[in-house]
Amino acid sequence: MQTIATPAAGGGVVLRGRKCFISNAGVADSYVVFAREEGDDAGGRPRFGAFWVPGDAPGLRVTPIKVIAPHPIGAVDLEGVEVPAEHRLGAPGEGLKIALGNLDVFRVSVGAAALGLADRALTTMIEHLNSRRQFGKPLAAQQGLQFALADVATDHVAAQLLVYRAAAARDQGRASVDQPAMAKLFATESAQRTIDRAVQSLGGLGVTVGQVPERLYREIRALRIYEGTSEIQKVIIARALLRPGK
Ligand SMILES: Cc1cc2nc3c(=O)[nH]c(=O)nc-3n(C[C@H](O)[C@H](O)[C@H](O)COP(=O)(O)OP(=O)(O)OC[C@H]3O[C@@H](n4cnc5c(N)ncnc54)[C@H](O)[C@@H]3O)c2cc1C
Repeated sequence: MQTIATPAAGGGVVLRGRKCFISNAGVADSYVVFAREEGDDAGGRPRFGAFWVPGDAPGLRVTPIKVIAPHPIGAVDLEGVEVPAEHRLGAPGEGLKIALGNLDVFRVSVGAAALGLADRALTTMIEHLNSRRQFGKPLAAQQGLQFALADVATDHVAAQLLVYRAAAARDQGRASVDQPAMAKLFATESAQRTIDRAVQSLGGLGVTVGQVPERLYREIRALRIYEGTSEIQKVIIARALLRPGK
């Protein structure tokens, strides 16, 4: 993390740096900015703070970014943004804890979003297999397509169970780091497979601009990247399993 919070008069800080790929940049009325603070902690590790910054703060500038599916997103430049002491969130040095706590919640909600996209893909696929006739019978009568449908439908239910398990654990105050990671990893990866299968099942229609599977195909892609990529979820899961004393 390269954005720096420099102490200022009155207990506030001045923020300098650049944040890439910030969802809702340019649309949001306010931002939570994580920045490196002066000095290291007792263990010699860098300290980070969290700060609330209004969207119209002098020195805050947004450059929009276009991604493959509609998503308001941009880079945020912080050029000497003054933040008063009362806009600090948590205690000095607690920023990383706040950031990681948020990721645990949002990983589950990204998993839930993937469930919605997969659900729509499955419905569209079933409707098409039942209605499209090819070689004298509905596509739904082809065992190869039935097997493909069974595979993605089973994946979908497994993804639902992982997401609901992680959400319930969080609600009951017994959240762990690996449950949200497993939920996000499996739900987003399996949704991608389900949507790809839906595209394939629609044949040429599946890649036609404006068709539902084509839109889902673009929309699902970023979910495997934000709130931690699939690879990083695997790092988290493995680390939890290999923890000493586990
Ligand atoms: C649509 C969208 C919205 C976003 N919204 C936000 C937002 O609101 N706020 C915010 O802070 N960020 C946001 N991001 C940023 C997002 O969290 C990062 O893009 C993501 O964490 C990946 O980081 P990176 O792009 O720097 O890729 P890199 O870290 O450069 O990774 C590139 C590739 O290498 C792999 N890789 C990296 N390290 C390892 C490793 N140790 N082991 C194995 N593989 C590895 C990654 O998995 C990835 O596949 C958003 C991104 C997108 C696309």
